[in-house]
Amino acid sequence: MSTTASDIADLIEPLVAFRRDIHAHPELGFAEHRTSAKIAEALREIGLEVHAGIGGTGVVGVLRAGGSDRSLALRADMDALPIREETGLAYASRTAGVFHGCGHDGHVAMLLGAARHLARTRRFDGTVNFVFQPAEEGLGGARAMIEAGLFDLCPTDQVYALHNWPDLPAGTAQTRAGPIMAAADKFEISLEGRGGHAAMPHQTPDAILAASHLVTQLNSIVSRRIPPTSSAVLSVTKIEGGQSHNVLPAIVRVTGTVRSFEPEVQDTIEAALRDVVAGVATAHGVKPTIIYDRYYPATINHPEAAAEALAAARCACCHADTAPAPAFTSEDFAFMLQARKGAYIWLGQAREGEHVPLHHPAYDFNDAVIPTGIRLHAAIVERLLAA
Ligand SMILES: [Zn+2]
Ligand SMILES: [Zn+2]
Repeated sequence: MSTTASDIADLIEPLVAFRRDIHAHPELGFAEHRTSAKIAEALREIGLEVHAGIGGTGVVGVLRAGGSDRSLALRADMDALPIREETGLAYASRTAGVFHGCGHDGHVAMLLGAARHLARTRRFDGTVNFVFQPAEEGLGGARAMIEAGLFDLCPTDQVYALHNWPDLPAGTAQTRAGPIMAAADKFEISLEGRGGHAAMPHQTPDAILAASHLVTQLNSIVSRRIPPTSSAVLSVTKIEGGQSHNVLPAIVRVTGTVRSFEPEVQDTIEAALRDVVAGVATAHGVKPTIIYDRYYPATINHPEAAAEALAAARCACCHADTAPAPAFTSEDFAFMLQARKGAYIWLGQAREGEHVPLHHPAYDFNDAVIPTGIRLHAAIVERLLAA
């Protein structure tokens, strides 16, 4: 028996208010103190066992029904972004330069709604861990929670997460077996010369010219080193160096990101980047330094769990189908899927005739999706922990 819209109708208005309150008071990664306190309070009100302060500001609510030792976790992220909001909404951010531009406020509302609904229906047999994690936006809050003992404290067989997806219309969902989000690496390369007079370039290595060659060489790595059947992206996003029209700077820094899905491709790109930097540095007589940080692995869905998620989405009256391709954005839920079987699901959020992408200053989570998200969470629990 799946959850109907009328089963949860009474929950929606308070959840919309909760979501908008969090939206008005956004907090950056690992600083979600107010947000996590409000979530913990709400979970206690429902009567759940609450574990707070896991991996910083992480909170888990535990709900048990029946005697089975099966368990699963549902995860929502809580953090906002360092972006100035430009929505003009009545509940817009009251904190300058901080904004829920990725809809994590909506994720919190949907998961809290699922906890409220499942706590009163309890049509399952086992344990559900409602995981509210900090710092998804680049700081690895999921890893922090795992390292703090999340799965020892709250034993979990499988783990699932939703992310609102503006590329899909509201009322639809997609996921796929295997990679769904990319691994994210960042690099910062310094090329150091000596610096000197611009009129006497023969007396000093030219770090700017070296950096210029480096940018074009870096942009040939994916097209020349990676098989056409694989995919990857390398983007140079920042060049810093120089202050004056008549001075050759002593140092230039080149920064960027790499996205890929397969560890072999990731290895090939890092090795090629190191070769290219060494070659350019030798040719131009500059001293290179490379910081290469693989900060998020690829998010890889387990095939069975992805199929289960699609079936659950159909129970929740979503139009659900297999995502044709993964996205090149990244997600620290990847760490949870390295630790446990599970899947990551895109939940359509686009309003009719409108497309505002994630991380855009005018983005806002679509509250009309909250009931769908609750029903999808509930369907996952009721299918996997069927009584
Ligand atoms: Zn985001
Ligand atoms: Zn996000």
